[in-house]
Amino acid sequence: MYQLLDALVAAADEGALLGIGIGAPGVVDASLGLIRQSGRLQWRDMPLQKLLEDRYHLPVHIANDSHVAALGEYTFGNGHTGPNLVVITVGMGVSAGVVLDGRLHLGDSFGAGEIGHVTVVTGPEAQRCSCGNTGCLETVVSEGALIAQARDIARRNPQSKLHQFAPTSKAIDLQAILQAFNADDDDLNQVILQMGRRLGYSVATVVSILNVEQVIISGSLARFGAPLIQAIRTEFKSTIHPMLAAKTKIHPSHLGQDIVVKGAVATVLSAEMALV
Ligand SMILES: [Zn+2]
Repeated sequence: MYQLLDALVAAADEGALLGIGIGAPGVVDASLGLIRQSGRLQWRDMPLQKLLEDRYHLPVHIANDSHVAALGEYTFGNGHTGPNLVVITVGMGVSAGVVLDGRLHLGDSFGAGEIGHVTVVTGPEAQRCSCGNTGCLETVVSEGALIAQARDIARRNPQSKLHQFAPTSKAIDLQAILQAFNADDDDLNQVILQMGRRLGYSVATVVSILNVEQVIISGSLARFGAPLIQAIRTEFKSTIHPMLAAKTKIHPSHLGQDIVVKGAVATVLSAEMALV
């Protein structure tokens, strides 16, 4: 992180930097600038804000990456209208960022939207999760879960389209999976549909509590596009109150892979200049 920031700070014009904005995975105490707990980074109580302020002598703003993504979508996205918005980020993990009445909702302990760690698989099939529990949504819907399932498909099925795009099991990454999926691999299609169904159910839970009509899907799995979004919509509609099913719109984000970066920019603009 220091190497990346050194390069970015050196590339900026003298005196032109307003501050540094960071979206980090895990539970982040935005008021103290602490990463409370990040399973993926294996960090606990990391005083990231202080470390970076001491090194760069600039204001530093840190928040959970999904919260930041929601602010990015709210500020720079064009897929929503009105003051309320839910952004579901599906990538390394699954989590939701919630904007209510134009303000990011962080939760009492900054854990709002941690839907990826709700147990959805029980029994012997439940896998251990980075949070310490087993059977979390993230263990079956995430980039890692998708790659593991794709490698399993390639092992079992010599006809799989995956073999055209990845010579070995180890070479199966998200890009190869996307290519095989776009070439109509039947097994992968089933995997994406299943992930969409699980997400649709989670979105129904979130929307039932908040009645937010605009839901945006972001993160690396959003690259699976219309088939994934359609599976989310179908499951959502069949598992929620009909009035909410009719009113809610679920769309992919147009901000792509930069959504957290744009959200981090919005965080700095908001804190330093009250611009957003
Ligand atoms: Zn978990």
